[in-house]
Amino acid sequence: MANSKYEYVKSFEQPDVLLPNTWIVVRIDGRGFHKFSNKYGFEKPNDRRAIDLMNAAAKAVMTELPDIVIAYGISDEYSFVFHKSCTLFDRRSSKLVTTIVSTFTAYYVHLWSQFFPGVPLSPPLPSFDGRAVQYPSVQNLRDYMSWRQVDCHINNLYNTTFWALIQIGGMDAKSAEKELAGSLSADKNEILFSRFKINYNNEPEIYKKGSVIFRDYELVEPGTAGEAIEDDGAKTTEQIKLSKTQEENDKKRRAKARITVQHLDVIKDEFWERRPWLLSNRPGKIPKEP
Ligand code: ATP
Ligand code: ATP
Ligand code: MG
Ligand code: MG
Repeated sequence: MANSKYEYVKSFEQPDVLLPNTWIVVRIDGRGFHKFSNKYGFEKPNDRRAIDLMNAAAKAVMTELPDIVIAYGISDEYSFVFHKSCTLFDRRSSKLVTTIVSTFTAYYVHLWSQFFPGVPLSPPLPSFDGRAVQYPSVQNLRDYMSWRQVDCHINNLYNTTFWALIQIGGMDAKSAEKELAGSLSADKNEILFSRFKINYNNEPEIYKKGSVIFRDYELVEPGTAGEAIEDDGAKTTEQIKLSKTQEENDKKRRAKARITVQHLDVIKDEFWERRPWLLSNRPGKIPKEP
C-alpha cells in the first residue's frame, strides 16, 4: 500500500470481530415486504412463488458460503447459521452480514423472473436488512431455531384463520382482526374447522413449519453417534482446530454434498440427532445416487 498523509483515516475503522467459539446467526429480513407483497399481488396468507424464491436465494447463499451449516426461513426472513469454529472473514461481523445480505438480495432479484414470470420488478426494488447474533451454547442455538419455528407456527395459524374469515367468510379486515383479538390456538383451530371445514393439521408443511436448508448426508440412527453431538465447550479453540489435510477433505466432501430444502420440525431432538454433521461440522456420508 502506498503511504500517504491521508492513510491515518483507516485507523478510524472500528473492529467488530465476533467472539470466538460462539454460534453466529445472521438473520436477514425483507424491508417493507408487507407493502411489497401487495404491490406484486402475493396470494394471502401464503404465496408459494414468493416462498420458493426466498428458498432459492437462500440455497444460492449456502452454495456460495460453505461455512453456513444450516439456514431457516419464514415469510420475508432467513437465518443463516455459521458453526462456532467458523473463521470466515476472521469473524468480522459487518463482513459476514453484508456479504450474506448482498448475495441474498442479488439472487432474489436475479431469480425473480423464474418465480414471477411476466411480472417485472420495478423500483423500489426488494432489499433486506441483516444482523449477526452470537449464541454461546448449542442449547441457545437450538432455542433460537425453535423460537423462529414457533413464530412461524403462531403467525401461520393466525394468518390462515384471518384470511379464511375474509376470503371465505366474507369479512372485512377490521372485523376479522376483532374476531381474533385475544383468541387462543384452540379457538383458531375451531374457527377454521367448524366454519370453513379446514383442518389446520392438513395445511402444507411448508407453511406450518417454514423451510430448513442444509447439506444432505446419510441419516444417522439416533443413539448410534451420540458422541458426534457432544458439546466441546471445554476444549480450547486450538484443540478444536482440525489438521490441514482433514480440513481439505471435509471441504471436498462438503462441496460434493447436495443442498436440500425441507420442511421439518427443528424443535425436536430427532432432527439434530439424525443429522450430527450440523452441530459437529464434520461432513457425513454422501448418500448413494438412487
Ligand atoms: P419491516 O421492513 O419492518 O421488516 P415488513 O413490512 O417487511 O416491515 P415483516 O414483519 O417483515 O414486515 O412482515 C413481512 C410481511 O411480508 C408479512 O407480514 C406479509 O404481509 C408479507 N409476506 C412475506 N412473505 C409472504 C408470502 N410468501 N406470502 C404472502 N405474504 C408475504
Ligand atoms: P428491528 O426493528 O430491530 O428490525 P423487528 O421488529 O423487525 O425489529 P426482528 O428483530 O426482525 O423484529 O424480529 C423478527 C420477529 O420476531 C418479529 O417479526 C416478531 O414476530 C418477533 N419479535 C420481535 N421482537 C420480539 C420480542 N421482543 N419478543 C418476542 N418476539 C419478538
Ligand atoms: Mg420485513
Ligand atoms: Mg419479517
